[in-house]
Amino acid sequence: SATKIINFSPGPAKLPEEVLEHAQKEMLNYKNTGISVMELSHRSSDFLKIIDQAEKDLRDLLHIPDNYKVLFLQGGGTGQFSAVPLNLIKRKEGGAADYIVTGSRSAKAAKEAEKFGKIHRVLPKTDKNTVIPDQSQWKLNPDASFVYYCANETIHGVEFQFVPETHGVPLVCDMSSNILSRHADVSKFGAIFAGAQKNIGCAGVTLVIIREDLIGHAMPMCPVIFDYKTQVGNNSLYNTPPTYSIYIMGLVFQWIRKQGGVEKMEDNAVAKSTAVYDLIDQSNGFFSCPLDTKCRSRMNVPIRIGSAEGVETLEKKFIEEATENGLVSLKGHRSVGGLRVSLYNAVKVDETLVLVNFMKKFQQEHQ
Ligand code: PMP
Repeated sequence: SATKIINFSPGPAKLPEEVLEHAQKEMLNYKNTGISVMELSHRSSDFLKIIDQAEKDLRDLLHIPDNYKVLFLQGGGTGQFSAVPLNLIKRKEGGAADYIVTGSRSAKAAKEAEKFGKIHRVLPKTDKNTVIPDQSQWKLNPDASFVYYCANETIHGVEFQFVPETHGVPLVCDMSSNILSRHADVSKFGAIFAGAQKNIGCAGVTLVIIREDLIGHAMPMCPVIFDYKTQVGNNSLYNTPPTYSIYIMGLVFQWIRKQGGVEKMEDNAVAKSTAVYDLIDQSNGFFSCPLDTKCRSRMNVPIRIGSAEGVETLEKKFIEEATENGLVSLKGHRSVGGLRVSLYNAVKVDETLVLVNFMKKFQQEHQ
């Protein structure tokens, strides 16, 4: 019999089986329309129901206040690296923004933003990306148009366990790799964005949640598809949206609601990540994780075998043997090497325990 595959990919990532089965059932004939969702007009009442329900479910899951708009856009997280400064940097007020750079995603966002304004990096430069310096050491600019951070650095596994205090300056957050995996008080943010392909769906759609008063200030050069005002004014239907990706995202929202909402996702995330970190901590240095314990990600756990540089031959063997056992996509990002275990919402606690047991056995056989 074929080995059951458990997908620990950093993204595009595992989707809940129930969602895939639901989509499969409706593939050829969506709700008696005789056609698939992919073939529906984005202006049809059937598709409008899909996008409206997705928004309702998301509002419900995150308790999004009424003065926030929800957008379903294209361009990925990277598109928002441009859209955020294009929409939110206020030239009249100095044209500056603060970026909290904790890893390669926030570094890329800051670099892109430099095309559009004066960007100040709040934290001292480091190539380690394993700690978040204490907030008391940050120097924020009170005249910044916004403060930007990445809630979870997917490559390095640096995750904020707190929401930065910005003393009234709008806070912008990239939640691409941890959205809906933990409680978030939306009212603390000016804007939140997230690509779908990790926790909430398949690639193609990018979620933006934005406070009303921040809409309508885009620079004249802002491309129309990135202009939040245009997109809000057209309910994300200014041009053809990624209809099928929005449909899948809507199914994921319904699945999360059925599971018990964000609270349940968070309980699972704690259980899964604790199982992996406990094993690392109890491995007498066979496995190691470079992260400061205060910012250990629940979503992406970077692991070395042996010291910080890792024992590459053993790491290679680990990935080979894991793959033979159906545990796939455990290779670390090429920029950091080693292993990385990604534990997004669709990965089950039981599946994580299968990996943990495999790791234990691997240590016994190779130490
Ligand atoms: N932000 C984070 C936290 C990411 O992990 C990624 C990579 N998926 C991006 C932004 C870039 O997203 P995209 O590939 O959708 O442009």
